[in-house]
Amino acid sequence: MFLGLDDTDSPDGMCTTYLGALIAQALAERGCVVKNMRLIRLNPNVPWKTRGNAGVCIEFDGDVRIASQTAGEFIDKYAMFDCENTNPGFVVCETKPAPDFYYQALRGFCTVEEAKAVLDSIGAVYRGYKNCRGLIGALAAVSAELPDRTYEYLAYRDPAVFGTPRVYDAASVKRSAELTFPHCWDTWDFAADKPVCIPHGKDPVLYGIRGESREWVEKAVSYIDTEAVSCFVIWETNQGTDAHILSADSGFAEGRSYWFDGSVTEAPKTQRGGHVSFSVDGVVCYAFEPTKSFRNVVRKLIEGDKLTVFGSFQNGVMHVEKFCLRHAAEKEIRVSPKCPVCGGRMTSAGKGKGYKCRECSGRVREVACTPRDITEGWYEVPPDARRHLAKPVCRL
Ligand code: ATP
Repeated sequence: MFLGLDDTDSPDGMCTTYLGALIAQALAERGCVVKNMRLIRLNPNVPWKTRGNAGVCIEFDGDVRIASQTAGEFIDKYAMFDCENTNPGFVVCETKPAPDFYYQALRGFCTVEEAKAVLDSIGAVYRGYKNCRGLIGALAAVSAELPDRTYEYLAYRDPAVFGTPRVYDAASVKRSAELTFPHCWDTWDFAADKPVCIPHGKDPVLYGIRGESREWVEKAVSYIDTEAVSCFVIWETNQGTDAHILSADSGFAEGRSYWFDGSVTEAPKTQRGGHVSFSVDGVVCYAFEPTKSFRNVVRKLIEGDKLTVFGSFQNGVMHVEKFCLRHAAEKEIRVSPKCPVCGGRMTSAGKGKGYKCRECSGRVREVACTPRDITEGWYEVPPDARRHLAKPVCRL
């Protein structure tokens, strides 16, 4: 059986994964056998998400009535109903629905009416609260298929300390990252020398360790020293898989994420606010200010560079998540060479055509190039600017 849950938290607290953990504990106490816990990220471009647009699915053996009563009881007790943007929903179904609704919620947009039509057609037990939008994420979570999957060990805080600063030994977190990377990622940001796995908000999460298997995330956790953990779940997830990315072969639609190949047609320019824009085959791409050091790499691109670009298409431009510099164009030197015949100053004979001498008839056919200070390969935004769904370069 599958219990899906979404949209229970607000920026002021709670977290749907924590509620999922509490419901799973209660189901076990009430005679059900919990078999798997899934954390499913959905379209990162939906405007009404609280943080990372996640729904959860609990796979269990048990009874529909117990599951729906338990979900209702815990939502009533813990969901942040006062927040206008919190619209919880849960679904319980005996068999896994077809994955179509999941893919639509992951890569595009869905309506509550569409979710209810699917739920009715499969005879699911469900309940939506307020505007019922949470039913979308709850149904998508139970319908998800994960051809590629990763794991996240989420440790939750003691409720008595919610809202207070998290207590942890930073050196132990860094050591954990050093000993488990690249099997685990997003534990420590080595460039900025700060933890990535520890959130700052009022939510119940103490830390989240992401990795390629249950064994690796458990190993990473074994090195970490923190305040008391009240409970934890190892979630199976679509995070870090690029599952949200579509091919741009048939064009770009607003609010969806794509990859495409092309050449830089307009060199990077820094805009007001520190955002860096450039064009690839005429498609306007942005590395926005929050992507910090990633912008320095983007600024090194020149016209003619061949790229593979990944990102989301919002407000008519690509928000770049990562790119591969497949072929670096040659960069002509700015100062023209001296004439090998008379030693006079030469001028360019046209783009890519070498130089001619102003004084005599001397010509140089080769274009003089200066070495590029960027090497071919993959570049990505720093961990705290990366989408949960984006596949980190260490997994490519
Ligand atoms: P939470 O931890 O509560 O899940 P969140 O950041 O994941 O926080 P939500 O508060 O769940 O965001 O808000 C996202 C809302 O958008 C949910 O109601 C979810 O059902 C809905 N939603 C998710 N994906 C889509 C989609 N593709 N189209 C329309 N609605 C969506």
